[in-house]
Amino acid sequence: MSKHIELEARYCAQNYHPLPVVLTHGEGAFVWDESGKKYLDMMSAYSAVSHGHSHKRLVKLVQQQVERLNIVSRAFYTDKLGPFLEKACTLTGQDAALPMNTGAEAVETAIKAARKWAYTVKGVAHDKAEIIACSGNFHGRTTTIVAMSDEPQYREGFGPFPPGFRLVTYGDIDSLEAAINENTAAFLVEPIQGEGGIVVPPDGYLKAAQQLCRKHNVLLIADEIQTGLGRTGKMLAVQHEDVHPDGLILGKALGGGILPVSMFLSRREVMAVFRPGDHGSTFGGNPLAAAVGLEALNILVEEDLPARSATMGDYLLTELRRMDTALVRDIRGRGLFIGIEVDPTLCSARTVCEKLMSRGLLSKETHATVVRLAPPLIIDKAEIDWAITQIREVLGEIDKLRLAS
Ligand SMILES: *Cc1c(COP(=O)(O)O)cnc(C)c1O
Repeated sequence: MSKHIELEARYCAQNYHPLPVVLTHGEGAFVWDESGKKYLDMMSAYSAVSHGHSHKRLVKLVQQQVERLNIVSRAFYTDKLGPFLEKACTLTGQDAALPMNTGAEAVETAIKAARKWAYTVKGVAHDKAEIIACSGNFHGRTTTIVAMSDEPQYREGFGPFPPGFRLVTYGDIDSLEAAINENTAAFLVEPIQGEGGIVVPPDGYLKAAQQLCRKHNVLLIADEIQTGLGRTGKMLAVQHEDVHPDGLILGKALGGGILPVSMFLSRREVMAVFRPGDHGSTFGGNPLAAAVGLEALNILVEEDLPARSATMGDYLLTELRRMDTALVRDIRGRGLFIGIEVDPTLCSARTVCEKLMSRGLLSKETHATVVRLAPPLIIDKAEIDWAITQIREVLGEIDKLRLAS
């Protein structure tokens, strides 16, 4: 076994179950392991590497900024934060933003904003505010956020949990309507559930949710940490339904595949609930992260990565759906955000990922049944064609073994 795998097994908490490959370098849509073997990265760090590994413009900018100014905390203004947030707000149609580092912190920020808005603007009674989330959601791993989860493993052993959350069935608008009451502050939703297994809700769901939220004075907050910034073929996944949320959460690709950069964005009225000292983060909005974030957004626009995701994603989805195999129950997604759901009685998603890995294609199962395909948005057609061949052959191999046994 590799020395590096042994070291992690010995010294690292076993809170992940990585595929047995030790990566040492990356470029564009590819990564290399310690023996020099090349892999196509169809995982891209859960969409954090939408720009590809070590994008030239980002590397150059980091080299320049690292020598100028990196961390000062928000105790002072910098020449980097304002331009970054201005760009993020204009791109997404939001009025203001609060910068953080990881996705979970930005979700926590959204929860705080929604609750304080409920008390100070909507008039909800003290400590009664409720946030509605969806079955199958994934919004991060803090103790408050896992309180919203219905995945037993995310919660087991980590209670007690804070109150103030209510779950509705994802994709079911009647379930949402029934859950709204006078204490409802916000409806928090992923436009497509990523960790839940690339679950696409029925057409019109988000639009109907927006109408319900407007009618009942409830904030619609879209968690686009994974779906945002071009992943689904539009800059934001809510744009597929022409929806404009009251709050928006970004992360992952916002850091250009280089740094953790996240933010909560919203209308003025919502962001205005924050006063100096209410909320913060030592590293949030630091000049290095802000410079990287601004360049990451500029690259998305200038290279038109959302359109590329739409074209390449359509192509990949169509070709995958033409596969003739008994192992697959469903293939779904939007843009370069695709899940292949296998029949768990016939094979495991983990086995598919292991076999793909030995052929030089990296992906990762989500839950036991879904193989996630979310490559860097810069991937080209030849690379996609190669990936389709590998996937078809691996499924064929597993099927042959199954029939022979
Ligand atoms: C990854 C993810 C998060 C959490 O982000 P971290 O940076 O891991 O804290 C939250 N919401 C969604 C939809 C995500 O995909």
